[in-house]
Amino acid sequence: MQPLWTERFGNPASVEHQRGLAAADRVEAARQEIARAIGAEAREIVFTSGATEANNIAVLGAARFRAAHEDRRRVLVFETEHSCVLGAVNALAEEGFEVVRLPVDEAGRADLGALEAALDTQTALVCLMTANNEVGTIQPIAEAAALAHAAGAWLHSDAAQAVGKIEVNVRALEVDLLSLSGHKLYGPMGVGALFVRRRPRVRLAPLVHGGGQERGLRAGTLPMPLIVGLGHAITLAEAARVATTARHRSLREGLLQRLDRSGLRYSLNGAASPEQRLPGNLSLSFPDLPRDALFAAMAAHGIAVSSGSACSSHDVAPSHVLTAMGVSAALAQQTLRIGLGRDTSEADLIALEKALLTARTKAA
Ligand SMILES: *Cc1c(COP(=O)(O)O)cnc(C)c1O
Repeated sequence: MQPLWTERFGNPASVEHQRGLAAADRVEAARQEIARAIGAEAREIVFTSGATEANNIAVLGAARFRAAHEDRRRVLVFETEHSCVLGAVNALAEEGFEVVRLPVDEAGRADLGALEAALDTQTALVCLMTANNEVGTIQPIAEAAALAHAAGAWLHSDAAQAVGKIEVNVRALEVDLLSLSGHKLYGPMGVGALFVRRRPRVRLAPLVHGGGQERGLRAGTLPMPLIVGLGHAITLAEAARVATTARHRSLREGLLQRLDRSGLRYSLNGAASPEQRLPGNLSLSFPDLPRDALFAAMAAHGIAVSSGSACSSHDVAPSHVLTAMGVSAALAQQTLRIGLGRDTSEADLIALEKALLTARTKAA
């Protein structure tokens, strides 16, 4: 990306000169890379500033379009969605849409029976994320999409945590809209993409009006260097995905085995089966470790982990994801959301175990 900021910059919409054309070529090459990674066509990809914006364009855009043209004013959303999806549907509720929140089971899996019961001919959209950011549970997207389509509803999936980590193919999943984010797959911050299905055609009411970029769905000058970085990052993530999955699964197993040997009490949040969860996610609750001791020990050992919730101050509300899965408010506060990255090593997880044992000593 570096030379694209300094020497070879250009506005991809300035197609009257060579610099603009070169920038446009780079953007289109990145669009192809992203489309290839998720099984889409290049013209189904809309660039955004990240998954938050992509989710807002999808949820607000689809609901408003369908309400205006088809009188569908009902939106179904699962309890464990990311706050940007929940925030967007709350905004729709204030506009007069009928929003129905649907439950998950204790592993965080969508209740498809509740979905089927809630779907009707007024339903515009169903929101179900591909994989959960806090507990890693992978959702039955293809099954949910089939149910949604049987009622004429569209399915939007927030795949910010899934793309680059598990296989995501928009045709196999039969989704109508799907979001992804650059910085969740080692790409740059400030860029993401929205897949908008063409056949059958999904139409959206745009949120941002202007110069007609991105087929009128998202006006504004495209950040060409960020887009090039996103395209490259997704290609690299896909190339490493299978090997990374195997490595993360074995690291995770190793940590759990050591914890079992240590006798420290813990519970694993999310799906038990490795096939039903993100390989790099580990959400663990520790009933014997008070939150303060837990996080002080993590900080003392230089370990960057968070709890279920995005905020780490003392009196945060318990995670809405863990709460929806039936975890008590107290235990939700004693939870670590551990993310294994590209460079996470066994030594890192041994350090994490040490930190947990320190917390146990301090708490005793
Ligand atoms: C990070 C994340 C988002 C927000 O993505 P940004 O690109 O940071 O806006 C949305 N949904 C999920 C599931 C995420 O993990």
